[in-house]
Amino acid sequence: MLDSDAAVSDVCSLLGLPLRKDQGRERGELIAPQDVRLGVFVCRCGTNIASVVNTAEVVEFARSLPGVVWAQENLFSCSSDATKEMAKTVREKGITRLLVASCTPRTHLPIFQDVMKQAGMNPGFVSMANIREQCAWVHKKDPEKATEKAKSLVKAAVGKISGSRALSFLTSPIVKRALVLGGGVSGLTAAMTLAEQNIDVVLVEKTDRLGGRSLHSLEDFRTGHFEVHFNKLVDQVLNHPRITVYLNATLEAFSGSAGNFTSRVRVVGKQGEKEVDLNYGALIIAIGARTLNPCGLYGYGEMDAVCTQAELERELKAELDNRNWGHDFPGNYVRPSGAYFETTLSRIRHLCMIQCVGSRSDERPYCSRVCCTRAVNHAVILKTLYPHMNITILYRDIRTYGFNELLYQEAREKGVVFIKYDPENPPAVSPVRLGKQKAVSIEVKNKGYGSSATCEDPVLCLTVDRLVLSEATLPTDDHETLARLLKLPLSASGFFMEKHLKLGPAETQLEGVYVCGQAHYPKTVSESVIHAKAVSAKALALLSQDVKVRFAPTVSVNTGRCVRCLTCVRVCPYEVPVFRAGEIFIDKLKCQGCGICVAECPNKAIEPDIVADSQVVKELELLVR
Ligand code: SF4
Ligand code: SF4
Ligand code: SF4
Repeated sequence: MLDSDAAVSDVCSLLGLPLRKDQGRERGELIAPQDVRLGVFVCRCGTNIASVVNTAEVVEFARSLPGVVWAQENLFSCSSDATKEMAKTVREKGITRLLVASCTPRTHLPIFQDVMKQAGMNPGFVSMANIREQCAWVHKKDPEKATEKAKSLVKAAVGKISGSRALSFLTSPIVKRALVLGGGVSGLTAAMTLAEQNIDVVLVEKTDRLGGRSLHSLEDFRTGHFEVHFNKLVDQVLNHPRITVYLNATLEAFSGSAGNFTSRVRVVGKQGEKEVDLNYGALIIAIGARTLNPCGLYGYGEMDAVCTQAELERELKAELDNRNWGHDFPGNYVRPSGAYFETTLSRIRHLCMIQCVGSRSDERPYCSRVCCTRAVNHAVILKTLYPHMNITILYRDIRTYGFNELLYQEAREKGVVFIKYDPENPPAVSPVRLGKQKAVSIEVKNKGYGSSATCEDPVLCLTVDRLVLSEATLPTDDHETLARLLKLPLSASGFFMEKHLKLGPAETQLEGVYVCGQAHYPKTVSESVIHAKAVSAKALALLSQDVKVRFAPTVSVNTGRCVRCLTCVRVCPYEVPVFRAGEIFIDKLKCQGCGICVAECPNKAIEPDIVADSQVVKELELLVR
């Protein structure tokens, strides 16, 4: 999904095409007929639903329900062929209400709302019955009862949709400017991609320089492309007429809705602090991540011979620069000072790496994803520079996914030794001396392949003159503050959550706000670049429109019933309701339609525009009848 979005972004840049979405049909030509002519589409979802629920029987049952003029099965309702056919059927059969019995509306409702729009119909007249997650998947062992339940769910949904109302559309002009938070590789890539498409960009970076940690990455060490590319990118961003860069800057305030946000940025400069007010249409979060300081783990901070992968990376980079390695191609990079930095790498006889330091623990159960590839890459570079160096990697599972597996193979061919350790009995380290030199003694229980540790497992004793810890990747210190300011959820690991893992990996829960790179979860540099391009494509699709049209499932306040208790003002997670001139005012462009205020209002003064109480009551009645 991300790869394809990134490819779209590249193709549009290449051809100079804007990612414009035709909204003419959405605004002017959609009709909202009052007569109820129901079309029911029952999805088989391949065998996901059909292997449990008798979908043909559900279709027959649907045909007998009041108001239903058409019912049929679909193999995959959300496929593009099926949605086109559905729109055609809606037009041909004069269907005015669409019910899709398939999976969850949380992810798929917009797809079927688009079907209605394609058919020239208001998207409010769509409903879904979840016969997959709430039926087929939970009643696998009882197909008969599952089929009966599917019929009940369809019957209830028919009752609900019969009383549905048209969605009103809201419009607002789009500010053709993007705000990018973070000046690392993801932020730089996103800023350049947008600027090249004639979008004004404001880039806000917390530190005093652009480039981030990726400038030192050795992911592409054979050619040195990253360094050349990113140095060039920093120059391009700093000199692009459409990009304004604020260094030493932080986001202080945030409000508005997709296409029209406002923020205040605090900038610390040589002349003191200043505040800048910004108005923009899309926000890209690219604040990156940080790595763990493993102080106290495996002797780090106590023994000189213990370092992190980040520290080894800097030494390796200096060594490669000394040799002008990988810079022998057009656009040659030359270290600006031409200086030679002496490293101690050539003196190492045995180097050991320990994987998963701080990851996959009780405190941090997630896998940091990139450390296996990084460690194996560093081992390959070391073996290339110093073929006689002994290298041992102590690991729990080697996760060099995708083509990184080739690096793992190369490491093995070059003689890197991999030893699996048991997380219950992690390696024990202690200081020793190798002649005059300080070294590290490591005891590790070799867990072997696919077996669990037993008391017979051999204990290996290694004496190494360098121990490198593959430290965990963590969210930055700013993740929580920013999430609170933007009202966005963080994952259990503390990174920004995408809207949907498969269907919206570049978007967040808030329309017009996108997340990319390591702010999302640990990624390699190449993955971060792809993610940034994918996010830019999404932002471009929004910013290349002149007007934002939104079919909004929002809420309305009945001022006659409102007792001005301000409960809604307190409970709305998006701070939408405001008390103004003695009344509650709801900005429908900002409202996310979550319904929390509807449930909390003690006097039932707030009602959703699309689902009336009477519809829900009807649905429940039909469910239990
Ligand atoms: S609409 Fe849902 S249930 Fe149907 S094919 Fe798509 S994912 Fe499966
Ligand atoms: S919660 Fe209901 S009654 Fe209270 S102020 Fe809001 S709309 Fe009025
Ligand atoms: S539905 Fe109510 S609580 Fe939810 S965003 Fe809208 S105003 Fe806020």
